[in-house]
Amino acid sequence: MQNIVIVGASLAGTRAAETLRSAGFTGTITMVGAEQQKPYDRPPLSKNYLAGDWDEERVALRKPEVLDELNLTWKLGVAATSLDTTSRTVALANGESISYDGLIIATGGDVRRLPNQPDLAGIHTLRTLDDATALRNEIAEGTRVVVIGAGFIGLEAAATAKKRGAEVTVLEGLEAPLIRAMGAEMGAAIGAVHERNGVAVRCGVQVASINGDARVTEVTLTSGETIAADVVIVGIGVSPATTWLESSGLTLRDGVVCDAHLNAGPATVFVAGDILRWPNELFMDVEADMRVEHWTNAAEQGAHAATNLLAALNGTEQTPYVAVLFFWSDQFDARIQCLGRPSANAVVDVVAGNPSDGKWCAIYSVNNRLTAVLGVSQPKLVMPSRALLSAHTSREDALAHFARVTAPPPPPAA
Ligand SMILES: Cc1cc2nc3c(=O)[nH]c(=O)nc-3n(C[C@H](O)[C@H](O)[C@H](O)COP(=O)(O)OP(=O)(O)OC[C@H]3O[C@@H](n4cnc5c(N)ncnc54)[C@H](O)[C@@H]3O)c2cc1C
Repeated sequence: MQNIVIVGASLAGTRAAETLRSAGFTGTITMVGAEQQKPYDRPPLSKNYLAGDWDEERVALRKPEVLDELNLTWKLGVAATSLDTTSRTVALANGESISYDGLIIATGGDVRRLPNQPDLAGIHTLRTLDDATALRNEIAEGTRVVVIGAGFIGLEAAATAKKRGAEVTVLEGLEAPLIRAMGAEMGAAIGAVHERNGVAVRCGVQVASINGDARVTEVTLTSGETIAADVVIVGIGVSPATTWLESSGLTLRDGVVCDAHLNAGPATVFVAGDILRWPNELFMDVEADMRVEHWTNAAEQGAHAATNLLAALNGTEQTPYVAVLFFWSDQFDARIQCLGRPSANAVVDVVAGNPSDGKWCAIYSVNNRLTAVLGVSQPKLVMPSRALLSAHTSREDALAHFARVTAPPPPPAA
């Protein structure tokens, strides 16, 4: 009877457990999770849940009876504190030590805090269900919300707060929103969606301090300007949750560094989700290895890591995890969808629509080959582009493809 331990009881961890069971694994599966809750979905936390439209039950990743069928041993509300790959044991914060034959690491990311972030009521981050509940309880008609950081989570929270009637200001240190993720041109176009909906988007500004007395009252910029705030959302990204692995001997570099099979070095230790850094064969010509923070990727990697772990335990062949990559984001009525790997250094061509109308499609190319297709409320153009990305299509061929598929239909024959 073999024993598999999954550390991180969220999306990647759940998909790993489901895959193990559906592949016929009948041994013990222990799910270790630092949070109290059974696995839940994070995307609604900045959207429907924050808006007050969904309740806690609706954000559950699986219904209780579905989880029961998996027959898992749950260790919730207790963090793993270290890993010993020689004795094959994981130590937990409650003093317990669990041994494993196979291990899947899926501990995701921890939100970053500002270096001088004070501990005042009204200052929030947004990663967990508890974070989202605390934040949604403080947003109402007229609440003055200041969002620090114009990344995806900050912008989604800004849009939801605005829709709830808050007065929202977004502060970004770089010259446009989403620069690292989408590049300056597309980041500015998405920022403009917010401005059209009444959010004040202030780019190229630096926060000097967040002030208040017990509760936050204002944010001061390095220019000396102050912005009144009832609520501050610090949305400056996440760091992979690798602290517990520091003495493990695994290679840590902004994530756990793995091979193409998602293996971390020791034969039966695999990694999945936001914490993973791996060489994605499809993009190795532009990026030697990558770490991504997308829902679809975490789900697929959880399943893939589990399949390869079983292969390692059974001595059968493992397969590389090769992904086109996909993410979505909802901000006001903009449905953002992106296939591939957009980057700030890419050449960007708008191939349909117009950013100023809030509905467009753009392609990204690096070294003259297509690396990403971004659509804002253009679902019909994005999803069919998967094959173009898999095939390393040149920029010229991609432009010709989009010219063809967006051409107006010929006039009817006389
Ligand atoms: C608010 C929000 C909105 C999002 N919206 C979108 C979206 O619209 N589209 C999209 O593509 N992606 C979105 N994402 C990203 C997506 O949710 C993540 O990519 C996904 O949750 C990653 O799953 P994961 O299992 O790798 O990690 P996580 O979901 O972060 O789970 C990791 C789990 O491990 C636990 N853990 C950490 N350390 C330890 C430890 N030492 N011991 C035990 N447990 C530990 C954590 O508490 C957590 O429960 C969003 C994320 C957030 C936060």
